[in-house]
Amino acid sequence: MVKKVLKFGGTSVGTIARIQHVAKIVKSEKDLGNQVITIVSAMSGKTNELINLSREISKNFDRREYDVLLSSGEQVTSALLAGALIELGINAKSWLNWQIPIITEGEHSNARIINVNIKEINEFIKDGVAIVPGFQGISKDGNVTTIGRGGSDATAVAFAKLFNAETCEIYTDVEGVYSTDPAKIPVAKKIDKISYDEMLELSSLGAKVMQSSAVQTAMMYNIPIEVKSTFTDREGTVIFDQQNIDYTKSVTGVAYSKDDAKITLIGVEDKPGVAANIFEPLNKAQINVDMVIQNISSDQNTTDITFTIKRQDLLKTKDILDNNKKIKYKKITHNDKVAKISIVGAGMVSTPGVTFKMFKGLAENNINILAISTSEIKLSVIIDEENTLNAVKKLHTIFDLD
Ligand code: ASP
Ligand code: MG
Repeated sequence: MVKKVLKFGGTSVGTIARIQHVAKIVKSEKDLGNQVITIVSAMSGKTNELINLSREISKNFDRREYDVLLSSGEQVTSALLAGALIELGINAKSWLNWQIPIITEGEHSNARIINVNIKEINEFIKDGVAIVPGFQGISKDGNVTTIGRGGSDATAVAFAKLFNAETCEIYTDVEGVYSTDPAKIPVAKKIDKISYDEMLELSSLGAKVMQSSAVQTAMMYNIPIEVKSTFTDREGTVIFDQQNIDYTKSVTGVAYSKDDAKITLIGVEDKPGVAANIFEPLNKAQINVDMVIQNISSDQNTTDITFTIKRQDLLKTKDILDNNKKIKYKKITHNDKVAKISIVGAGMVSTPGVTFKMFKGLAENNINILAISTSEIKLSVIIDEENTLNAVKKLHTIFDLD
């Protein structure tokens, strides 16, 4: 008998038939004698639908009420799944976030789970199955909060930690973590085992299979995760500590995202403090700068600075730069038709030539690199958006992932 946290994503509970199917999976775990806590997402599309409803009322919908609204999606699926299990003769029960309670800290829409009262649920799962709505909690002053898009993963990991569960299984609509997006690149392969670090890079660089902050928490507390499909019985991907993995390949996966924009300031004065003057106000406005390139000045007096930000921050960033009296430049250009392509692999550390191989591959395909950033286990480049799939395909082949 083991204690398990099972989490089902939006598509897994997207229809009544699917909820009934999930109930059978949960029942089979219970029938094996396991203690089961089930975390559910809202039915697929529901959260977006609720967001759109709020926008019909106001573009500045009240933050508190926004969280009350958004948390309702998961509450619906919790009750439906509990009902479906009861239909199958299982003693199941759902809780609302404040009934448990799941305590959070931080601002509305972006709170973090800091504690969960485990007592009642721990008692209940000795005999029954507990169903918990993901993506939400309640603040210390009693307001319902949500914990960021895709937050049911974080709920699952937090519960696995606080209940001391043996496993945390993330059920989704794909068979696991893939070497790249299987929907766009059919030769993508399922990865059997991946380290927390690699998963963290992949998920923050565009792989959508798991929320990156949930991976981060799992890594911090060493909670093994299994990502698997709700719709097949096949083994999924295990995410765990790197020491347990034997690296045969330098690159584990290729990720891409299209949510970056690139800004170039041309003819910036080349003297100490200029970069600080550019980035300080951006930092104050909580605009996250990702890659930065500063060229050596050709005339000793001016230089060009290129940096990337999230595409949604482009207007705000331009506005800040336009009104920044502390810096002088000749011209500003921006490009939001760019994509970030990243190769990720813990095996990169011990393999020379990965950088060269990547750049050469892109060059052979006439793909121009607009910016580069690296870390120990990843290499990202910004390229023109239209070349995205071509670049991903090529890199997937070059690094033996097909
Ligand atoms: N329903 C929420 C969302 O769509 C949370 C989740 O699915 O994990 O972001
Ligand atoms: Mg989701």
